[in-house]
This record gives sequence, C-alpha cells and structure tokens, in this order.
Amino acid sequence: MEPPARETIATRVQVVLSKIRRAAEKVGRPHGSIRLVAATKTVGVDRILEGIEAGLSIVGENRVQEAVPKIAALKQAPVRWHFIGQLQRRKVRSVMGLFDLIHSVDSLELAQEIDRRAGDAGSCQDILLEVNIGSEPTKTGFHPDNIVQLVLTMAALSHIQIKGLMAIPPPTADAEMARPYFRKLRDVATRIAEMSLPSVMMDELSMGMSSDYEVAVEEGATLVRVGTAIFGARHA
Ligand SMILES: *Cc1c(COP(=O)(O)O)cnc(C)c1O
Repeated sequence: MEPPARETIATRVQVVLSKIRRAAEKVGRPHGSIRLVAATKTVGVDRILEGIEAGLSIVGENRVQEAVPKIAALKQAPVRWHFIGQLQRRKVRSVMGLFDLIHSVDSLELAQEIDRRAGDAGSCQDILLEVNIGSEPTKTGFHPDNIVQLVLTMAALSHIQIKGLMAIPPPTADAEMARPYFRKLRDVATRIAEMSLPSVMMDELSMGMSSDYEVAVEEGATLVRVGTAIFGARHA
C-alpha cells in the first residue's frame, strides 16, 4: 500500500476534526472541550509534520525508544507530546520532562515510580489512570472495582497530578457496541470525583480511537486518540 499523500493526511485531519465537532454538537457539548491526540506509532517524522501543518497539536506515542528521537527531530514544531502506550517502570526515568501527559498509568507501582522520578527531577507529572474497563484478563490497567480505593493511596503522592481516566475497551464489531464501556468509564470518573480529593481531578476522559471516537465524544471523551483514520493502516 502507498503511504497517504500530503493532501490525504491534511484532508483526513480535517475530516476527523469535523466529525469530532459534529459528534459534540449532537449531544450539546462545546467542541473546544475535546482534544484530538494523533496516535503516531510507526509513523515517521515527515508524515507527523504533515499532520501538524494540517492542524494536529498533540501527538501520542507508545514506545519510549521510538518517541525520543521523534521528539528531538520535531523540537521546533508547534506540538505537544503525550505518552499513550504501556510504560515499563525501568523506562520512567527516561520519559521525565518529555510528555505533558501520560495517559496509560496502569498500576499503583507505576504511579509510585513516576512520583519518585518526578520528585527527583523537582517536577510534577500529569497522568491519567488506565482502567481495564472490560475487565479483560489479558489486559493491564486498574480494575473498575478497585480503582476508587487505590486513588486514595495515589492522591497522597505529591509529584503526580491525576487528571482523569483512560481506557481501551475490548474490540467490538461496531462502534455502538463500545458505548457501554465509554459510559462505564465516565461513571467510574464520576465516582472518583465525588470523593473530592484535593489533588485528584477527573477533568479528562481519554477514550475513543479511529473506529469509535465519535461515540466516545458523545459519551464524554475529552481526549480521543486517533491513528489509522489520519495516517492510514500501519505497516510496521
Ligand atoms: C494505536 C493506538 C491508538 C489509535 O488506534 P487507531 O485505531 O489507529 O486509531 C489509540 N490508543 C492507543 C493506546 C494506541 O496504541
């Protein structure tokens, strides 16, 4: 397959942004409350730059070793970086200072390690907690029934700031079937918000990918992570 041409990436960015706008309008949400995170695993810097020129402002990377050279190569570009992939504890030190937001904090131990390393660096790292919203045995993430209790422990960590939740629902045949999972993530966030912990915010819901981001927006997503719908199918 040919990689998408320059016009194609630009066109696709505009299509995704307008679909986000339409989904938001449908449920009466201000579309400014939703941010598009371009999921760029396996996508080279040239094509990421085309996306930035077409209006992307946040890039989400999955792997530390892939992200570090891309961030260096694009350091002049007007774009912010998020980490959306599984993060190993031994890699935490090398991501400090690189990402505005880590979406994928999937255990108490990882949260504690980020807190420790951010503390060493004299900083505070914004994070989301990843919820295993389908309670899938093969997936990492906080179990929806345990997370509320664990948030109490994490709230005491002073070098992380919990901004909200993230989830990747089980694969479904169509977008509509993902809706109950998105709704469930929102419900978990509401339960946590009701605890009114001073250091825990539930402002962000990172949910929805190429196949279902419009449904996710209808259900309250504030961050959608979209790759294929912008850059085409991944080859690597
Ligand atoms: C790859 C990826 C996405 C985007 O998936 P698409 O189906 O290509 O839109 C979103 N979130 C995470 C965590 C990913 O790894």
